[in-house]
Amino acid sequence: MTKPRNRNGSPHVVVVGGGFAGLAAVKTLSKVKPPVRVTLLEQHNYHLFQPLLYQLATGLVQPADIAHPVRGIVRRYRRTSVKMANVAGVDFDARQVLTDEGRRYGYDYLILAAGATTATFGIPGVEEHSFPLKSMPDALRLRAHLLHQFELAENDPSQIDRGALTVVVVGGGPTGVEMAGALHELFKHVLVHDFPELDITQSRVVLLEATDHLLTPFHPNSRRHALDILNKRGVEVLLGQALERATPDEVRLKDGTVVPTRTLVWGAGVRAHPLADVLGLEQTRGGRIVVGDDLSVPGRPEVFVVGDLAGAGDGKGGLLPQVAQPAIQEARHAALQIQHSLDGTPRTGFTYKDKGIMATIGRNAAVTELPSGARFKGVLAWYMWLVLHLAYIVGFRSRVAVLVNWIWSYLTYDRHARIIVAVEPWRPARPGQPPAGEPSEAAPSERPVVG
Ligand SMILES: Cc1cc2nc3c(=O)[nH]c(=O)nc-3n(C[C@H](O)[C@H](O)[C@H](O)COP(=O)(O)OP(=O)(O)OC[C@H]3O[C@@H](n4cnc5c(N)ncnc54)[C@H](O)[C@@H]3O)c2cc1C
Repeated sequence: MTKPRNRNGSPHVVVVGGGFAGLAAVKTLSKVKPPVRVTLLEQHNYHLFQPLLYQLATGLVQPADIAHPVRGIVRRYRRTSVKMANVAGVDFDARQVLTDEGRRYGYDYLILAAGATTATFGIPGVEEHSFPLKSMPDALRLRAHLLHQFELAENDPSQIDRGALTVVVVGGGPTGVEMAGALHELFKHVLVHDFPELDITQSRVVLLEATDHLLTPFHPNSRRHALDILNKRGVEVLLGQALERATPDEVRLKDGTVVPTRTLVWGAGVRAHPLADVLGLEQTRGGRIVVGDDLSVPGRPEVFVVGDLAGAGDGKGGLLPQVAQPAIQEARHAALQIQHSLDGTPRTGFTYKDKGIMATIGRNAAVTELPSGARFKGVLAWYMWLVLHLAYIVGFRSRVAVLVNWIWSYLTYDRHARIIVAVEPWRPARPGQPPAGEPSEAAPSERPVVG
């Protein structure tokens, strides 16, 4: 389906991806003068708040708390429509976006904001045997798998020695640290009561980090604080230890250590969404698309790339981190450059306004660093983390739901969403080699999950 361009005299902007960047672009475009017509193409019918995926995986929140229907968000913007579509490519010369169903959307301006995916760095076994944490199905699959392991271990305690209650989290960045902390709380405060016949002291959370510290972007004091807290709470942090290979039942480290485990959580790397690989555009390390100062693609001033998909410079010779603030600010900037083109004013270069960094470690524990150099840790930093994350969740109902869950959990140590709902309570297996006793059908990575 080819949309006529400039229908009703308004230029047509197509935005690909309804994540942080795509939604920020759509919102800014709704205020552009002269007005533009906007079509948002999103593969899911919801916007996902990825920073709380680990809370979904550990039973603290429900799917609808961290996902909001895209149509419900976009309907408040005039001249904006949304199509649920999986974009497969772009014909830049014809100025058309192509979907996997063969539809075509013509554009005058294009903003690509398809985000990122997990990078496994080619480590043998990781692709097949690890649990990534990038999508809603990822989190639900991990939650179901974890709970299922406890059920298996209670029925047959010999499973414990075979790694049923051991989780290895790879990557000591914010995702790995918050995941390790949350898993520890789930095991030691919640599942300990659910499984009174199990010796919960045998459950292990191992956090593996290849460098000699956690939380690389943070000040050494913040890193030490995170390490101290995790150690005190019983997470086994292995620094300077790299993963060599993974199998369904164990992981092997580079120094020869073998850890029996059936749950390898992958929080070690991201790369640009595979869409970046098929566009024929210049890419940086990690597959991100090279953009100019104004965030347009060199030689294609009508095409912008923003968010995790973009290789936007940080002004110091590196690339901006793949986190929410750069994505939001880049998207707003790209939308404003379209306005400049329309009203004939010169485009401007993008400058990132650093708003600081924060990471939560668990109950009453977080680290926050502001651009001024001020650093916070402990309970105060934790409250700052809670308030900020609450503010960025889309939808008042979701905010209230998350807040209620947090308060309930804080007061009672309960995590009420510890429910097995995924179709497959087990990781995807290698085709033809299902783990014994598990469903024989390999799980496609995006199979819809009822939850
Ligand atoms: C577990 C986790 C925790 C995180 N925690 C934090 C945090 O605490 N703080 C922080 O700042 N950042 C955090 N991040 C990073 C942050 O979520 C990302 O940087 C941010 O989402 C990037 O925004 P984006 O719009 O570029 O991509 P996304 O938010 O990923 O959005 C991309 C959108 O494009 C859609 N899409 C992809 N491909 C296609 C296609 N072919 N066709 C149509 N639609 C498509 C996707 O469905 C998605 O909705 C976290 C990320 C993860 C995974």
